[in-house]
Amino acid sequence: MNILLLGSGGREHALAWKLAQSRLLERAGDTLFAAPGNPGIAQHAACVDLDAGDHGAVTAFCEKHEIGLVVIGPEAPLVDGLADSLRAAGVPVFGPSAKAAQLEGSKSFTKALCERAGIPTARYTHTASLEEAWGALKLYDAPFVLKADGLAAGKGVVIAETREEAQEVLADMYGGKFGAAGAEVVIEEFMRGEEASFFALTDGEAIVPLASAQDHKRVGEGDTGPNTGGMGAYSPAPVLSEALERDVMERIVRPTVEAMRADGMPYSGVLFAGLMLTDEGPKLIEYNARFGDPECQVIMPRLEGDLGELLLACANGTLGDLAEPQLSPDTVMTVVMAARGYPGTPEKGGTIAGIVDTEGVPGHVKVFHAGTRLADNGNLQASGGRVLAVTARGDSVTEAQARAYEAVDKIDFSSGFCRRDIGWREVAREKA
Ligand code: ATP
Repeated sequence: MNILLLGSGGREHALAWKLAQSRLLERAGDTLFAAPGNPGIAQHAACVDLDAGDHGAVTAFCEKHEIGLVVIGPEAPLVDGLADSLRAAGVPVFGPSAKAAQLEGSKSFTKALCERAGIPTARYTHTASLEEAWGALKLYDAPFVLKADGLAAGKGVVIAETREEAQEVLADMYGGKFGAAGAEVVIEEFMRGEEASFFALTDGEAIVPLASAQDHKRVGEGDTGPNTGGMGAYSPAPVLSEALERDVMERIVRPTVEAMRADGMPYSGVLFAGLMLTDEGPKLIEYNARFGDPECQVIMPRLEGDLGELLLACANGTLGDLAEPQLSPDTVMTVVMAARGYPGTPEKGGTIAGIVDTEGVPGHVKVFHAGTRLADNGNLQASGGRVLAVTARGDSVTEAQARAYEAVDKIDFSSGFCRRDIGWREVAREKA
C-alpha cells in the first residue's frame, strides 16, 4: 500500500527509516510519501509539498494516491483535528482525534481525567482569572508550578521559587504573554524525583507497552540553561524497572485509555507519558499525543517488529490481533547537534559534512536529520534549531554514549554544538 507520513523533524526521519522496512510497502510500486519531509527523510520517502493545516488538500492527496495509512508525526495537526478529517474521508490514520488529543492539548482536561480515574499525579487547581490564580497560590508551598493551559511549544510551564515570582508569572500569563494558551492557568503541587518517559501504543481498546526513555530538555551540560525541544535521549531508561513499567501500565496508561473510551472519545495512537518517579511511585506529569522528539530516534532502532503493521493496527482497531512488539535489550542513545543560537535564534546556513564518515563507527550509527536542507550546490546546510540526531547503540548507556560521541566527532558542523553529557545520570550509576 501507499503510506503518507506528515512532519519534517528528526522524529519523522526515524519513523520514515523504520516504515521504509515495513512489509506494507513490499509490493512493486508501493510508495512511502512524506510531507514536507527533509533531506534525510528523502533517502526513504518521496517528499511532497503538502500543508498539514489544509485538511482538504491532505484528504485529496490521499484519495488521489490511494493512501492506505497516514502517520501524523507532530502534535499541532492532531490538536487541529486532521485525524478526524481523514477518518471522515475513510482514510486509515495513526494518531488521535482532536478530542482525544486534548490529553496533550489541554492540561486542565488531563488533570480532570486523572482525578476522575484515580491516576497518580500532582494535586492541582484550575484557574480562569488572575484573581482566582492568586487566591489558589495560597493552597501551595514553594516551588510553585504554573502552567498555561493550552499548547505552548513546551514553554508554557514555569517553576517559580518564591511567591512573589509566582505572582509576577501569573500576571504575565493572564496578561497574554503566552497568547491563547495562557487564557487559563493550572497551578500544581511540586513533585520531587527523577523524570522518565514511557510510550505505549493503543487502538482505543487494546494497549501494548513500547519502551521507556529519558531525554535532556535543558540546552546546557549538567541540565543548565533554557529549555529546548530536547538535546538527547536514550532508551531504555533503566531507572524505570520492569516492576515500575507494569505499575505505569496498570495505574496510569490503562485507566487513561479506559476513561477516554468510557467518555466517548477513544484514544488511538501513541500515548507518551511524562513521569516523575517519586518516593510514592511513578506519577504522571503530562501526556503527549505523539512520539517524542528525540525519544522516537532511540525507540525506533530498538523496535524489532514491523512498525507499519503496528501503526496500521492502531489505526484500524486491530491491535489486539498482533503479537506484542519486541524491543532489543540494547541501549540506543541519540545526541542532538543544534545550530549555534538555539533555543533562541539559530544560525541558519551552516555547512554540514562528514555524515558518511560515521558509517565506520561501531554501534549501527544512524544520523537522523531534523533542520537540514540541500543548498543549490548540493551541500547539506543547517536550516533550523535542532539539526541532526546522531544515534548509536551499545550494551550499556556508557557504551552507546561513547559510540554516539565518536560519531558526533566525525561530523563537520562548525556552526553547530551539542551537549557532551547526554546520559550522565545513568553513566554515573553504571560506574558506581
Ligand atoms: P514539554 O511538552 O516540553 O514536555 P510542557 O510545556 O507540556 O512540556 P510539562 O511537561 O507539563 O509541560 O512540564 C514541563 C517540565 O516542568 C516537566 O518536564 C518537569 O520537569 C517540570 N514539571 C512539570 N510539572 C511539574 C510538577 N508538578 N512538579 C515538578 N516538576 C514539574
